[in-house]
Amino acid sequence: MIDNKEFEENYEINSPVFTRQMAREYTILLPTMLPIHFRFFEKALIACGYKTRLLNNHDDIIRTEGLKYVHNDTCYPALLVIGQFINALDNMSKEETHKVALLITQTGGGCRASNYIHLLRKALIKAHYEYVPVISLNAKGLDKKSGFRITYPLIKRLAAAMTYGDMLMYMRNKVISYEAHKGDSDNIVNKYVDKIGEEFLHNKGVSFRDLKKNINAIAQDFDKVEIIDTVKPRVGIVGEIYIKYSALGNNHLEDFLINEGAEISVPGLYGFLFYSCYNTIYDRKLYKISLLKTNLTRILIKYLERRENLMIKAIKKTKYTPMNSFDKTKDYSRGVLSHGTKMGEGWLLTAEMVELVETGYKNIVCAQPFGCLPNHICGKGVMKKIKSIYPDANIVAIDYDPSATKVNQENRIKLMLAMSRETLDSEVKH
Ligand code: SF4
Repeated sequence: MIDNKEFEENYEINSPVFTRQMAREYTILLPTMLPIHFRFFEKALIACGYKTRLLNNHDDIIRTEGLKYVHNDTCYPALLVIGQFINALDNMSKEETHKVALLITQTGGGCRASNYIHLLRKALIKAHYEYVPVISLNAKGLDKKSGFRITYPLIKRLAAAMTYGDMLMYMRNKVISYEAHKGDSDNIVNKYVDKIGEEFLHNKGVSFRDLKKNINAIAQDFDKVEIIDTVKPRVGIVGEIYIKYSALGNNHLEDFLINEGAEISVPGLYGFLFYSCYNTIYDRKLYKISLLKTNLTRILIKYLERRENLMIKAIKKTKYTPMNSFDKTKDYSRGVLSHGTKMGEGWLLTAEMVELVETGYKNIVCAQPFGCLPNHICGKGVMKKIKSIYPDANIVAIDYDPSATKVNQENRIKLMLAMSRETLDSEVKH
């Protein structure tokens, strides 16, 4: 049995490396986080030659599995991601487990998200899967031995996948609460995930021209959905990145709010990437980091801005209001939280809350995982200040952890919705 401390320490150094040969033969398992985006990411990896499978195991057992292998005072997202991986391995034959690798993101920042990979490796030892290689997806070259290569074609496909994901998520949230025929919005999402996924395999759907064509088509399809003319409470969802987006992490928060008769807005993944880029620019101002790194980041910002602009322009041609450009979003935290606050979601969380209030989503659920200090500071910690600037902001912080009951969380959100309905008449349509 392999579980002693000495082995664990050596294992960190000698953990199985994902080799070039494995890249051809193994299936890479992806944990779920953003329901639409990750379907595109899966297709992007397949198009680059990797056998890939997106996990969709969502049972309560994942929490129990996580608790078995991760200390219960660790960040809740780590507990869920690791629980989901171990549960997936448990449901395979022994032979199959020898032909899979696990992919996990590593931010490389000061937060604990950089260490999830080590927690996962430790959990694999405990669960007797120490032979399963773990791939780190990071932008900082943290895993130099890996046979998983972040190549230019892969980066281009992932960027396209993120653009499609953000566009579909934004439009779906705008329309789904008003659709006259239930399922119309989800049908459009499924149509484009299949169509563009197929295009990726044929080296299409990635160029700027193809993106423009597809993004415009998505906007037009949503614009044609028949909607019911009514006014609903508008609710924004913010928080730690995993708990904000993952239905597994937030107990299907989006579905719950839609079923309760609200229109929801969830800031896109573009925001998080821009936030990471701008942190490099601010680090240059504050700590004088390398000018070369700053200049490369500026090029990346321009690349992303061109694609963000595609979405904004396409939505402007419909009856719906487009998202703000991040260039505007980033300034919303001014006067509330400094741009030097960048652990976890840092100033982005504050900026997103202020932006939501400014754009008519005065009701906000701030989803906070257990064990997350930075987001409690940049979320819960700034609510009083935001409410002092916007007295009609109706913000509620909801804690998510393995022992928090869904009923309790939902009751608090229902209370927030009840308060929002009192002021509903003054809400603006669409
Ligand atoms: S942001 Fe919070 S939950 Fe995420 S790694 Fe950091 S401390 Fe953990």
